[in-house]
Amino acid sequence: MSVEIIGAVQAARTAFGLVKTAIEARDDSKVKAALVDMGERLMDVTMAGTEAASKLSSATMELHELRQKLRDAEARQQERERYVLTEVAKGAYALRFQTREDDVTPAHYACQVCMDSGHRSVMQAGELFGVSPVLLCPRSKEHTVAAS
Ligand SMILES: [Zn+2]
Repeated sequence: MSVEIIGAVQAARTAFGLVKTAIEARDDSKVKAALVDMGERLMDVTMAGTEAASKLSSATMELHELRQKLRDAEARQQERERYVLTEVAKGAYALRFQTREDDVTPAHYACQVCMDSGHRSVMQAGELFGVSPVLLCPRSKEHTVAAS
């Protein structure tokens, strides 16, 4: 229970005690005043409860988003672990996909630069500026590496 709710509930209890005392004293004016005060305290409890429920709802949504981000990060990490940095030509590197027996994904290379920035780009065989063979990154020609 939040501090605001606890304070509001305690104030309402005090107000209830004042109503009870006024009733026991059979003083109508004190009863009316105590009932008005108790009504205000109950309104404070309601407001504090509503605010707490809103904060709980926001925290729950944030928790859901963070859990989803964690699942996404774990999935990216598992995918990333399938790739190993490989020298495809002297001084030229790409990430080689490690296939498994039951895998339907064919062997391929991925761009190391893109993978490091969180994107998987499957490199394509080709030529660039008359140089071939090269592995072209579909996201950026600057990531092209020579292949042999
Ligand atoms: Zn790239």
